[in-house]
Amino acid sequence: MSTVSPVNRETAVVDSVNKELFIGGKWQQAEGGKTLPVYDPATGKVLCEVADASVADGKAALDAAVAAQHDWAQVAPRERGEILRRAYQLLVDRKDELGLLMTMEMGKPLAEATGEIQYAAEFFRWFAEEAVRIDGGYAVAPNGSGRFLVMKQPVGPSILITPWNFPMAMGGRKIGPAIAAGCTMVMKPASQTPLSMLALAGILSEAGLPDGVLNVITTNKTGEVMEPMIRDGRARKLSFTGSTGVGRKLLEQCADNVMRTSMELGGNAPFMVFDDADLDAAVEGCMTAKMRNIGEACTAANRIYVQRGIVDEFSRRLVERMAALPMGRGTEDGVVVGPLIDEAAVTKVTGLVDDAKQRGATVLTGGSAVDGPGNFYQATVLTDVPQDSRIAREEIFGPVAPITPFDTEDEVIASANDTEYGLVSYIYTSDLNRALRVSERLDTGMIGLNQGLVSNPAAPFGGVKQSGLGREGGTVGIEEFLETKYVAIGLQA
Ligand code: NAP
Repeated sequence: MSTVSPVNRETAVVDSVNKELFIGGKWQQAEGGKTLPVYDPATGKVLCEVADASVADGKAALDAAVAAQHDWAQVAPRERGEILRRAYQLLVDRKDELGLLMTMEMGKPLAEATGEIQYAAEFFRWFAEEAVRIDGGYAVAPNGSGRFLVMKQPVGPSILITPWNFPMAMGGRKIGPAIAAGCTMVMKPASQTPLSMLALAGILSEAGLPDGVLNVITTNKTGEVMEPMIRDGRARKLSFTGSTGVGRKLLEQCADNVMRTSMELGGNAPFMVFDDADLDAAVEGCMTAKMRNIGEACTAANRIYVQRGIVDEFSRRLVERMAALPMGRGTEDGVVVGPLIDEAAVTKVTGLVDDAKQRGATVLTGGSAVDGPGNFYQATVLTDVPQDSRIAREEIFGPVAPITPFDTEDEVIASANDTEYGLVSYIYTSDLNRALRVSERLDTGMIGLNQGLVSNPAAPFGGVKQSGLGREGGTVGIEEFLETKYVAIGLQA
């Protein structure tokens, strides 16, 4: 039996992470020894300080990535794959410690954090397998007089930016394919959750990643540090996961140098339950789609549309489940509703619920923030939520399930598509014809059909409309980090 107390274990995992910048394979302080605090969202207390990079530190990280690009692109695909495979194994072997570290900085329940480490690890395993499958082509020109040779090459030095809600998986989803494709990179994790990424940098180094291939900078002068790097002209790719607002700004910055971009942005997922659905499965799926990550997910069910004949029974069952969810610090046994990331998140959720109430919605359970310490909001179910309420238009990013009844298929499709977002939609029905009909008419990059979870490293993740550009994962994920070059071959008779 372990003799280490839970508090000592928490301190030990935070202490075990190197908190400096990782540039050119070396850990180093930020310019002037500057640091920024990382908070525990469950207590509001400072967990530790990490390096706060300056503009010059950002440039040094880009210099290192640029310097390493040529040699890295020459490394055999099998060797790149082996590094990824070793990283996969190290993540899996250490998932308990890494999960605890993530819960400390981000707040999600320990079981979910450990699950995210496994999910992140799977990107490394998947792209270890993809590294050796980069293909090309050879074809006879249509007029028979020449030949086409098509080759795939790494895009080049890449800038990667990730959000706080999945501190390890969002990084793995970019670093995995970048390594597989032969790109070097500068990674900037969210300033609220830098520890998981710093731990990952250590693991990749241990797995044999050459110096300079991955550089990690942490900063809270984010715009000031990142913009010159993006505008510098040497990075050839920006892969961003975060809000649509910041994504738009970054697209503008990329325009000057016509940089390749991948944008994984916000969502406003409709969750549709038709009256022929298996109600038990629909409630279960709704709990997953709503409560994964305490509702702080781009894929979270944001608008729950239930056909009128079953809305009362569906709501009753959902309320029963939501009201019973244990709330508390993510490190406590059995907790499902952990703290939100910060006070601003609680204020936002409070505002959305109040607005819905003012417009006629009814609170079936929950409906308020919880007094501190920590940033807690009750698991909440609202019903009769009008389509024009703010909660139906903005990302909630909290444990609130807003239900709106509907009558017809056409009506629910129109409501589902009535948003600038188009990341994921969920459909519950037992009618295959309806499932396909509705799937084809939804403006969305992904659909969960009788399933409340779509994320899978082997599948193409991404959105349409203002939810983003490009796809991560699946067989297309590596393409985001590859350029296609065509050689026109003239044949002498
Ligand atoms: P965010 O505010 O857009 O921040 C995301 C990242 O961008 C952070 O690292 C942030 O750094 C950085 N950033 C902010 N301003 C920047 C600027 N001017 N220049 C360069 N970088 C900048 O989003 P968030 O609140 O962390 O994450 C939640 C959002 O991400 C939600 O909208 C969610 O839907 C979306 N998301 C999408 C997906 C997807 O796959 N589609 C997955 C997860 C999350 P700082 O932390 O230092 O501010």
